[in-house]
Amino acid sequence: MIDLHAHSTASDGTEAPAVVVEQAVRAGLTTLGLTDHDTTLGWDEASGAALRLGMPLVPGIEVSCSRRGRSVHLLAYLPDPDHPGLRGELERARTSRDTRLERMVGLMAADGIPITLDEVLAQVEQGATAGRPHIADALVAAGVVDHRDEAFARWLGNEGPYYVGHYAPDPVRAVRLVRSAGGVAVVAHPHSVYRGRVLSDGLLEEMAGAGMAGIEARHRDHTPEAVRHLTDLAGALGLFTTGSSDYHGAGKRNRLGENTTDPEVLARIESLATGTEVVRP
Ligand code: AMP
Ligand code: ZN
Ligand code: FE
Ligand code: FE
Repeated sequence: MIDLHAHSTASDGTEAPAVVVEQAVRAGLTTLGLTDHDTTLGWDEASGAALRLGMPLVPGIEVSCSRRGRSVHLLAYLPDPDHPGLRGELERARTSRDTRLERMVGLMAADGIPITLDEVLAQVEQGATAGRPHIADALVAAGVVDHRDEAFARWLGNEGPYYVGHYAPDPVRAVRLVRSAGGVAVVAHPHSVYRGRVLSDGLLEEMAGAGMAGIEARHRDHTPEAVRHLTDLAGALGLFTTGSSDYHGAGKRNRLGENTTDPEVLARIESLATGTEVVRP
């Protein structure tokens, strides 16, 4: 049971990195990938817990990318966390995320939704990547809504009136950057039904041409048809497929191990990576 896509409080998961590792042990996983948005902040704590609890850990990042205003998520496995180009790009995205959160909160407050920036920032762990889920958490804490889902449905969605984008690199450039940092690039949930139009085969082919190694085909946001299509496309492009939960603790319904990745694929990821190593107890 290998699950290579999970979030902690280093971004918008609700559990600390060590707790996510504990939950992975409890869920019966044999390997966990920690892939917080645009940061490696959780790696050290998760690695310590992995060694203590006997759970192999694959350090990763979910890199936010953007192509013509459309969001693309790129999983980077085992990149060098100190690679200057990659680090700089992630820092730039995180800074832009802070500004964008402030703008979204300003627009919402101006419309009479009872929310302040301080309330939102109180939901973000020191140094963590701030995102829309933290606005949702502040609204839950204030008793305005019952769950993140409700805040997204009413106000925070990509097509919603308060949506503000943030800086993010082009996906093809991000693939090259991840490769140059010794990481293995895998596109996350390319056919997610929740993010407007799905990523085109053409874009995925372009990313493959730039050195992307795999497609996250099995994901809760994908219909059975999407899984089939992406599996066929991966075969045609010579890419591997992964399956993952995209766990966010209590922030989403996704459960650890609900989709999994084959051991042969993990071995391939390990053999392609030169940035850092799988943490093995
Ligand atoms: P952001 O990175 O700030 O643009 O926010 C996107 C994040 O919000 C993604 O990581 C999603 O997991 C999360 N998200 C999107 N829709 C929902 C939802 N309906 N409920 C909870 N979290 C969501
Ligand atoms: Zn997230
Ligand atoms: Fe994502
Ligand atoms: Fe994710």
